[in-house]
Amino acid sequence: MEGDNNGELTAVEEPSITRSEPWFEDGNIVVITERTAFCVHKAQLARQSEVFAGMFTITQPTASDISTFEGRDVVHVHDAVEDLKNLLTALYDGVDFNSRNLDDFLYLAGIARLSTKYMIHQLRQRAIRYLISINPVTHERYKEWAAEAISREKAQEDGEPWPYVHSSLIIRLAKDINAEFLLPCAFYRLTLSQPKHNFETYIGTRSRSLLSSQEMFKYVIMDEHMRMSLLAFVRGLSDNRDTFLSKDCESMEGDNCYEAFDKVLEYAKTTMVLKGPLRGPDGAVRRVIQFLRDKCKPTACSPCTRLFIASAEESRRAIWDQLPGYLGLPGWAELIPEEYK
Ligand SMILES: [Zn+2]
Repeated sequence: MEGDNNGELTAVEEPSITRSEPWFEDGNIVVITERTAFCVHKAQLARQSEVFAGMFTITQPTASDISTFEGRDVVHVHDAVEDLKNLLTALYDGVDFNSRNLDDFLYLAGIARLSTKYMIHQLRQRAIRYLISINPVTHERYKEWAAEAISREKAQEDGEPWPYVHSSLIIRLAKDINAEFLLPCAFYRLTLSQPKHNFETYIGTRSRSLLSSQEMFKYVIMDEHMRMSLLAFVRGLSDNRDTFLSKDCESMEGDNCYEAFDKVLEYAKTTMVLKGPLRGPDGAVRRVIQFLRDKCKPTACSPCTRLFIASAEESRRAIWDQLPGYLGLPGWAELIPEEYK
C-alpha cells in the first residue's frame, strides 16, 4: 500500500516541481535542480559519470527520505536548469559544439563545467578539445586561428568578433574546470582589445565576466609584456638589419634589399600604435611579413625575403612561447596535458 502511493504522496508534497525533458517514462532516477525534474536511467549516468556512479552505490534511499518523485529515486543537485538539461541530453544524444554566437559558447561552457563536476571524462575531453580550437594552446593552431579571425574580422555577435566570446568568459571557465592551459591565450587576447571594450562596455551582461583583482593584475602584467615584445621586435628590425641580408642576395651590393628593409621598419612603426582584435605583437609581425612579401617597394630579392620571413616567424614563435611565463605558469610543454597536445 505504502509503496503504491509513494509517487502520489510525493507529488502532493512537492507540487511546484515541474517535469522537463529529458524525461524517459522507463527511467529509474529523477534528477532535480531548482525545482525542475529530469527522468533518466541510473545505468546511463553511472556508466559515464564517476560521481553519479558513486552516488548510486552509496545512497540507498530509505523510507524516511523524501527521496522519491513519482515513485522513482531522486538525486538533488544544484546546477543551472539549462546546463543540467544540456548535460543530460548530451549523455544520450551526444554533443555538437559550434561557435556561431555567444549562446554556442555558453552551451559549451555549461557542458565543460558539469562534465568536470560530475567527472564525465569523455564529454569533458570533447568540450576541451573544442575549447582549444577557439582558444589555442599551440602556436600552429594559433596561427590558423588568427587567419580565420582575419577572414571573419567584420562579423560581430554580441559585440564580440569571431569566435564571439570575450576572454573574460574563458578565464572564468578555465578556473572553474581546472584548465589553466586556456589562460595564456585568453589573457593574450585580452591585451589585443581596448580597455574600454574589455572593462567598460557590456559590463554586467552575460557576455562579460568580472575579473578578480588578481586576474586584473595578470592582465596588466601581460599587457606590459606585450608592449615590450612589440617594441623589441620593431627595434630588432633596425638593430638586426644586416642579418636580414642573405649571402645569396641578388641585388647589387644589397642596395635594393636594404632599402626594402628600411621601408619595412617604417611600416612597422605605424603598426605599433594600432590596437584592436587582431593586433598585438603577433599581429604586428604578421603584418610586417605580409608588407615585405606583397606591398613593399622596392621589393627585396627572394633569398633576403626568405631569410627575413624566417627570422620574423621565429619572433612570432618566441612571443607565443613566453605567454605562460608572464602569468606565472610553467612553459607550454609542461602546462598542456598530454591528451591535448
Ligand atoms: Zn637581397
